[in-house]
Amino acid sequence: MTARILVVDDVPANVKLLEARLLAEYFEVIPAFSGAEALDACENGRVDVVLLDVMMPDMDGFEVCRRLKNDPATQHIPVVMVTALDQVSDRVRGLEAGADDFLTKPVNDLQLMTRVKSLVRLKTLTDELRLRAATTRNIGIEELLSRRDAVTEAPAHVLLLEERASAAERVAKMLRGRCRLSVAVDPNAAFFQAADGDYDCIIVSTAFSDYDPLRLCSQLRTLDRTRFVPIMLLADQGEDARLARGLELGVNDYLVRPIDQHELIARLVTQIKRKRYNDHLRESVAQTIEMAVTDGLTGLHNRRYLDSHLTTLFERARNRRRPLSLMITDIDRFKAINDTYGHDVGDEVLREFASRLRKNVRGIDLACRMGGEEFVVVMPDTEGPIAEKVAERIRAQIADTPFVVGADRREITVTVSVGVSAMMREADAVEAMMKRADLALYEAKNGGRNRVVAAAA
Ligand code: GH3
Ligand code: MG
Ligand code: MG
Repeated sequence: MTARILVVDDVPANVKLLEARLLAEYFEVIPAFSGAEALDACENGRVDVVLLDVMMPDMDGFEVCRRLKNDPATQHIPVVMVTALDQVSDRVRGLEAGADDFLTKPVNDLQLMTRVKSLVRLKTLTDELRLRAATTRNIGIEELLSRRDAVTEAPAHVLLLEERASAAERVAKMLRGRCRLSVAVDPNAAFFQAADGDYDCIIVSTAFSDYDPLRLCSQLRTLDRTRFVPIMLLADQGEDARLARGLELGVNDYLVRPIDQHELIARLVTQIKRKRYNDHLRESVAQTIEMAVTDGLTGLHNRRYLDSHLTTLFERARNRRRPLSLMITDIDRFKAINDTYGHDVGDEVLREFASRLRKNVRGIDLACRMGGEEFVVVMPDTEGPIAEKVAERIRAQIADTPFVVGADRREITVTVSVGVSAMMREADAVEAMMKRADLALYEAKNGGRNRVVAAAA
């Protein structure tokens, strides 16, 4: 992971120090020595994360943060306030100014890297969403990005694994009103609870008398259901080795006791935001795939889907020695409907036709729009004579009930011709089966339309 980190501090030695450590981890570093310089760099350059000193002459860190967060061009850049250890009030002011996270001076190496990496990951996701919003004008994405605080919008559900009741109660108190918290005491129970529930984050305490909590973390990372749920560790001082191991295993962040409430909330917000962006991205990828195989007018699968899926269904039927049938339907004299009532009415007829088709086939049947006014239904586990009956039922459903269309709710009679074919026992192929149905359809048209013809078996 490479990213550009803007390091802002009025003391050059402090900048040098952070710079050296970040460079060692192959981050790019942009140094800035005043608030004004920092704002310039954010507006002009590609900055992924800002490490911002609080105490600076002229413009202090709070003011810089406020300005960054109030400017639409820079508000998505994560800001980490670097505060003095004992200044709890600084953290509150930082949060109010819109800071995403805190680091305390002197900055601990592990903390620095964990926080920077975590925020870089979040930034990468927001960048991706922003890009998609720009290219696709996806309203869902724009709406999501405009939410300043994904956590307060919809309450997050957090699971805490903590053996000691008093410690659990302290955390619960800190998070009261911030999220819905469930507490698990036993690691095994926690594993199942995590797998069954829909958690936005899992917080795991390292303080177990007789259990290695990293085992649970590793299990959660392996299981499909929990792979993407962020995990935060609550550790004691001096557990750096264990934390480093946890981060390698895929733990996302950690806090060291005594826990600071503001820090806990800030870290939790970052993790939950990232999870929600992530979920949203995955959903939108799934949606894109869905759109590519769906016919926009009727909502049925399109030809592309049929082409790939029919082969699968065919192979499966052959391997299991099960029957398979299909029908091709073609609306009769559809061109005349367009010509008489207009293209919009034609579209309405297609939609209504698709809806009747869907109602007359089973869930496991595959109904697709091949193109124009031609549809295909593939029927697994169905012998030819049964498929012929289904086709006949569909034909009757279309012909016997007039279509009500147009603004004037006019009734028009629509008919359809259908060709049916069934898979043959020996040496059959998908193309041959389609061809037989096509020829049967041609026969139905020639025979006077509004009829079903089954190919000879
Ligand atoms: P036949 O009984 O022989 O099938 O005659 P037909 O008029 O149904 O067949 P033809 O293939 O000559 O005409 C199909 C028409 O369907 C022509 C085309 O403009 C129209 N069409 C194709 N796609 C759409 C669509 O998405 N919407 C509408 N309204 N019309 C479409
Ligand atoms: Mg037609
Ligand atoms: Mg046609």
